[in-house]
Amino acid sequence: MSQISRTRAVHAGRADLAKLGVHAPPIDLSSTYPLDDLDNAISSLDAAVAGEIPAANPIYARLHNPTVARCENAIAELELCESAVAFGSGMAAITACLLDARQRGSHVIALHPVYGTTEHLLQSGLAGLEVTWCDAADVHDALRPDTALVLMETPANPTLALVDIEAVVAAAGDVPVLVDSTFATPVLQQPITCGASYVVHSATKFLGGHGDVIAGIVATSEARARGLRKVRVATGALLHPLAAYLLHRGLPTLPLRVESAQASAAKLARRLQRHGAVGAVHFPGLHGQDPLGLIGRQMTGPGTLIAFEVENRDAARSVMSAIRLITPAVSLGSVDSLLQHPAGLTHRVLSEAARLRSGIGEGLLRLSVGLEEPEDLWQDLAQALDAIREPKRLNIAV
Ligand SMILES: *Cc1c(COP(=O)(O)O)cnc(C)c1O
Repeated sequence: MSQISRTRAVHAGRADLAKLGVHAPPIDLSSTYPLDDLDNAISSLDAAVAGEIPAANPIYARLHNPTVARCENAIAELELCESAVAFGSGMAAITACLLDARQRGSHVIALHPVYGTTEHLLQSGLAGLEVTWCDAADVHDALRPDTALVLMETPANPTLALVDIEAVVAAAGDVPVLVDSTFATPVLQQPITCGASYVVHSATKFLGGHGDVIAGIVATSEARARGLRKVRVATGALLHPLAAYLLHRGLPTLPLRVESAQASAAKLARRLQRHGAVGAVHFPGLHGQDPLGLIGRQMTGPGTLIAFEVENRDAARSVMSAIRLITPAVSLGSVDSLLQHPAGLTHRVLSEAARLRSGIGEGLLRLSVGLEEPEDLWQDLAQALDAIREPKRLNIAV
């Protein structure tokens, strides 16, 4: 476990800017590139198709884009990885990892719970992989000779359960482990230091951080990055350079954003626990909610998301329509606080049985804490929660 420094977040991917004579990173929107020499072009093209970074000329923007590469280098640096490969969304990044795994074997092991669409993608069979679902303790028993990947998420969405990455890596043996680290960000954990092979982010969330970018990224070794670039060249699941620019622009404030929202989340989680309309509160920083002692070992802090239970779907609906400051919306990791209903929205594609197995009941709400004053957030939550507790007034005509 290590803490990324604020200095590194500010300067990552910017070391050459002074030499270029600019202060902000340049944006290259070219779809094609003028070729100086056919033989050079052929060797660049061959390199790109093999998943390498073309040295001489990008040739065509599906093969390589310098603005995207700059953002990739910055995120690789924050994840303490050799390389990173960016995609048009988090799901495109996960799909690329699965298609790449498909070349090594036809079986994957996935740990419950994961993001709803990730589960949907695995269940759909679209990637051509057979899936065994299990808990961290059963990974070793689930291994087969054709197992190509172990996929896990920590903190998990939406229950915020923490999974011990080192234990899963040990159980997986030679099989690479992919960690969806979207909820943690490189500020709170760097899965590569725990032995993970792939670190995936829906960069739409904290890395972008301002609710205006859809993006995905995989940080890994250069050898594994080549496999992913090959998939990207073949499938075209690119990140647009303007989106890459915005993503890179958000990185300098990432540590400040996460630290601030995390401090607010800790306050709100304790106050939610004391509210009469709230049942269980799920927040890894609360007493008893980190049984493996992963905070301080795997993560530097409990994060910025809270899941809490109200009585039923009606109560959840009332809270979502009564909030005024918090935005009722899916997604997370934005500067503004967002509240959503996993059973009805992000995890709706799952069967009810699958939702219940993952601890997603009808009264569960997930709050992504933003950068507002925590007291203002509490006032908003409290007025929405008080409203569901008030006994319905009887309309008796006299
Ligand atoms: C949002 C999310 C994804 C999917 O990312 P998109 O950018 O929406 O495609 C994957 N994993 C987790 C944990 C997420 O929160």
